[in-house]
Amino acid sequence: MSWGFETDPEYAAQLDWVSEFVTAEVEPLDQVIDHAWNTRDPQRNKLIRPLQQRVREQKLWACHLGPELGGPGYGQLKLALLNERIGHTHSGPVVFGNQAPDSGNAEILAHFGTDDLKKRYLEPLLENEIASSYSMTEPTGGSDPTDFRTRAVLEGDEWVLNGEKWFSSHANFAEFLIVMAVTDPDAPPHQRLSMFVVPTDTPGVEIVRPVGVFGHDEEEGTHPYLRYTDVRIPADHMLGGRGEGFQVAQTRLGGGRIHHAMRTVGLVRKSLDMMLERAVSRTSGGRPLGERQLVAEMIADSHIQLEQFRLLVLQTAWRIDRYQDYRKVIVDIASVKAAMPKVLLDVAGRAIQIHGSLGISEEMPFGKWALESYHMGLADGATELHKLQIAKRLMRGVQPTTGLFPSTHLPTMRAAAELKYGDLLLADDPVDA
Ligand SMILES: Cc1cc2nc3c(=O)[nH]c(=O)nc-3n(C[C@H](O)[C@H](O)[C@H](O)COP(=O)(O)OP(=O)(O)OC[C@H]3O[C@@H](n4cnc5c(N)ncnc54)[C@H](O)[C@@H]3O)c2cc1C
Repeated sequence: MSWGFETDPEYAAQLDWVSEFVTAEVEPLDQVIDHAWNTRDPQRNKLIRPLQQRVREQKLWACHLGPELGGPGYGQLKLALLNERIGHTHSGPVVFGNQAPDSGNAEILAHFGTDDLKKRYLEPLLENEIASSYSMTEPTGGSDPTDFRTRAVLEGDEWVLNGEKWFSSHANFAEFLIVMAVTDPDAPPHQRLSMFVVPTDTPGVEIVRPVGVFGHDEEEGTHPYLRYTDVRIPADHMLGGRGEGFQVAQTRLGGGRIHHAMRTVGLVRKSLDMMLERAVSRTSGGRPLGERQLVAEMIADSHIQLEQFRLLVLQTAWRIDRYQDYRKVIVDIASVKAAMPKVLLDVAGRAIQIHGSLGISEEMPFGKWALESYHMGLADGATELHKLQIAKRLMRGVQPTTGLFPSTHLPTMRAAAELKYGDLLLADDPVDA
């Protein structure tokens, strides 16, 4: 049996390097970069590429990937320990080569792309020479993919796409899109959709407008509203089989969700650290704020929530490594995903409160982080759907009782116990002294 909470000394030393590097290089970078994902921005490339090189030299580049894809193959647990050190930064994921949505899109291409697609898109994506976008959500609704309207029709040896998507993050600077479209409208609901690679410069791909979200600082919104009008792509740009869009999507969503959670641990910890500094620095009535019981409670509650959440994330990462099969960790990942927005909102919210007016001002990041909790509660599926999934799976296989009362109904249990031990209870043998 092995069960432990220790990091091996060699990796612990690498993590120490990460923490120092993030403080010295990545945090300052965040102050001057517009969007760390935008590989078409020469200024960004000048700043970020030398840092990525240093990460490669430390063998910490793209830790989520195995050696066959250019990563060290450390697995999810080590990635979790890394991501919690970079999660409070904007640029960190890109500097360390494990940023969404590129990480998930790379997984899809690696699994389902042709050799040619891998050469054209996967290789430069893994080197962060290009960016990618995942184009699934439609303006008519994202939670229910069985209601998606974007159509793909086979004409000769080409697929022709028509429809609208939005929140296709980074489509404005991506080299290609991974698009989910209806190919078989009359098939059962979960076999109607297929997945495609669409080069962004294909005629008919149009950005209707950029869409921005509160709390993201880039000059122009990076979650565009897209229209596909008679977009023609070769038949071999389909990823997976016809009607297998749902299965292909799962390849990326499992990992993507847990990676967000790993980074959120970092964001929550940073909120708590800043809360602590404020609590011992600011005075009220001649005493540090932290000595006030109601403030102390906010600190304690934040610590407890953080540690509970972190353990859930680490355990889930450990299970992914152990089982190597996302289907076996669906409940774990859904639990992490559903817990994440609340922990972040609660702790960032308390950090705002303890910092007073400064906390809510644009001079501190907490407002942005509190709003980020809504991003975490929507992207890769709304919290409610994950909770439904958890409950559904937990109830699967549970037998209903046959009697009127639950199987642990106390009077019923008592009666059964009396029947079982009745003879012994009635016997009047002397009790051992
Ligand atoms: C910052 C950001 C980036 C994103 N990036 C991408 C991206 O790159 N690619 C992409 O394809 N999408 C992306 N999304 C979209 C995201 O996946 C969707 O927002 C999400 O799937 C929900 O879809 P919706 O917004 O259309 O909400 P709707 O489907 O309209 O649902 C709205 C709300 O209704 C409730 N609800 C819906 N269905 C149920 C149900 N069955 N039971 C209970 N409650 C329910 C939930 O509270 C839900 O939040 C991004 C979103 C954000 C905020």
